[in-house]
Amino acid sequence: MALADFEDFRGYLPGMSADEMWAWIPPTITASDFPDLQLYIEYRVRLFKQKCRSMSGEELTNQINLLYETPTVGDKLTDRNLWAYKHLRALVVEIQQFVCQLEDICTYQTCKEMKATDEWQFLCASHHKPQACCAIDYMTHTLDTSISVLNSKQFFSDDNLSEESYKLIQQIARRLYRVFAHIYFNHQEQFRDFENETLLHERYKQFSVQFNLVPNANFIENLKSKKADNISMTTSQLPPKMKH
Ligand SMILES: [Zn+2]
Ligand SMILES: [Zn+2]
Repeated sequence: MALADFEDFRGYLPGMSADEMWAWIPPTITASDFPDLQLYIEYRVRLFKQKCRSMSGEELTNQINLLYETPTVGDKLTDRNLWAYKHLRALVVEIQQFVCQLEDICTYQTCKEMKATDEWQFLCASHHKPQACCAIDYMTHTLDTSISVLNSKQFFSDDNLSEESYKLIQQIARRLYRVFAHIYFNHQEQFRDFENETLLHERYKQFSVQFNLVPNANFIENLKSKKADNISMTTSQLPPKMKH
């Protein structure tokens, strides 16, 4: 189906309720129907949010897997690294929207250091020399740097990705995951509300596993068990270890 037909097909009708308008789900559209992969991803994510918000467990995992399944364009299977790159570009925009919602909640006063649990303090790598920015600055700087690197033609092309560029994606994905970890451990209400609405963390985690981007030990549930260990050692007030 061509995009023009797609527009025609949507045809809102007089008397249609808002629910009916938004519940509209188009017939099967493939990556070949889109002028580029980035638009196709946007479309699939929008559809996913509409359809899967109330899902959980295996049903949700399967739907997320479908989202990351490498598509065929024409008769050519998309380069897997390129597919991961395009998804990361889309995810960064969503993470940015998440961080924007923390205005007045995560500040220099509330979170002087960028931490998930107390075990690690993350140094901001967006500077000539890594430095200890407060959490909101760390997140903003990391997002800005990630967006600028991901948009750079110097590192990424639209055809396929070198192994070196893929390593860069791993580095960016690992640093961005810390945004989720910080919000989860320090702003739980905001984390829960945003997750209920978007399932962004669940999608990002599965994305990271599927494309081998973030080590398992960095995931929230693994940091959580370390946090429990730390709490049981109540007498130790060791300073946090540093990572960048
Ligand atoms: Zn904070
Ligand atoms: Zn910084």
